[in-house]
Amino acid sequence: MRPTSITADRTTARLAITWDDAPPSSISFKVLSDLCPCELCSTERSNPDPLKVIRPRSYELESIVPIGSYAVNIMWKGGCHYGLYSWERLQQLAAVEVKMKGG
Ligand SMILES: [Zn+2]
Repeated sequence: MRPTSITADRTTARLAITWDDAPPSSISFKVLSDLCPCELCSTERSNPDPLKVIRPRSYELESIVPIGSYAVNIMWKGGCHYGLYSWERLQQLAAVEVKMKGG
């Protein structure tokens, strides 16, 4: 499982991915940012602290940096810069979004 192309469309705010061995995925920036896989954001999601000010989520893509051959680092403008999205993670997020739409 490897992406053959990853295209960020800032107009529709979606990431389009084609895979070498699976149907293409499309994930909204919102889902990607809301479910940032970095340790900081994961901890924030699993242990919401009512006394702590939750950092605002950014849905504006700043950059996508390939990390080796297993992941991309997605940085959000004014938001989290630490999310490493592995290929498995991207497929999971695409599945999450399909589920949310009820499709
Ligand atoms: Zn994060």
